[in-house]
Amino acid sequence: MNVGIIGGGQLARMLALAGYPLGLRFVVLDPAPDACAAQLCDHLQAAYDDPAALEELARRCDVITYEFENVSLTGVDKIAEVTAVYPSSRSLAVSRDRLREKTLFRELDIPTPQFVAIDSFADLENAPKLLGWPFLLKTRRFGYDGKGQYLLYNAGDLQPAWQALASQSLIGESFVPFQREISILAARRKNGETAFYPLSENQHQNGILHLSRCRPDDPQTKPAENLIQRLLETLDYVGVMALELFEVHGKLLANEMAPRVHNSGHWTIEGAETSQFENHLRAILDLPLGATEPVNYSAMVNFIGALPELADLLEQPGIHCHAYSKALRPGRKVGHATVRAPTEAALEARLNHLLKLLP
Ligand code: AMP
Repeated sequence: MNVGIIGGGQLARMLALAGYPLGLRFVVLDPAPDACAAQLCDHLQAAYDDPAALEELARRCDVITYEFENVSLTGVDKIAEVTAVYPSSRSLAVSRDRLREKTLFRELDIPTPQFVAIDSFADLENAPKLLGWPFLLKTRRFGYDGKGQYLLYNAGDLQPAWQALASQSLIGESFVPFQREISILAARRKNGETAFYPLSENQHQNGILHLSRCRPDDPQTKPAENLIQRLLETLDYVGVMALELFEVHGKLLANEMAPRVHNSGHWTIEGAETSQFENHLRAILDLPLGATEPVNYSAMVNFIGALPELADLLEQPGIHCHAYSKALRPGRKVGHATVRAPTEAALEARLNHLLKLLP
């Protein structure tokens, strides 16, 4: 079976690494000559929305998926006439636009921070009446790793925030003084079979995910499963989905969903019976889903901009290194490590050790 992936970054690379033992083959579409998945997969080097390249991808593959949300919707709809594309273009359309996403959350009774569309400076001036101070101005599209966001503390911030972001469609969101950030990942097959992963508890630095801990038996597990289930069913979803949540005084608020494998689920490669990457492939190929139970205690640390010394990493028991073979640049995700241990205390000790190795 041939799987096509729009995007040839580390998520595509890890999908391929999970798929080869199943006998799958991969073609990635990515304009970058050094796309890191291209070391492992056939590479169509063209723009993500290049009609001829998309057509070739569809012709060569039995199923097509994507590793990021900013894929051309018309392109996806076109190739979906030839080859199955999962998750569906509806899932893509909702999740790549913060306003549509939050509107769907509201329709499904999924609690979310207060929000309002900002289409003019007057809308921005009125926003604090609804959102209070401070509040966040975000681009509706193309935001990731905290990019395209402006935190406004008072009326003096209105003009600078508008100048920084007004070239794009915007949304205002109340600022949530959360106690924890967590995410839930689930895989769903066409027949409705669904598997939930244990929760990930996430820490960010400068808007970029830094550390995720697998939290088996977390008291928020059932409430989080209940929320993501509503999205999976409404969208008749196929594949792995991630839902990012804030916990505030014991309540969950949905921040955003991702229609794809997710950084906060990278610990599943060694820390779960079946990784998120393998389960995404199983789901889109309509194969039985694998067990999602945790294997011991585990956590994931991202390598941002630089990699630790490989020998230092490998000297430590329970550390599994994933370098993405990407050029090192500040702020860029270039690898991660999963840390695994038989007890929670041993995990924390190993994590502390790993964190000291970060450049
Ligand atoms: P996002 O790109 O929306 O996932 O935002 C990146 C990070 O910014 C989140 O993981 C949070 O740490 C923070 N953040 C985003 N939205 C809010 C919010 N409404 N209130 C507080 N923090 C937020």
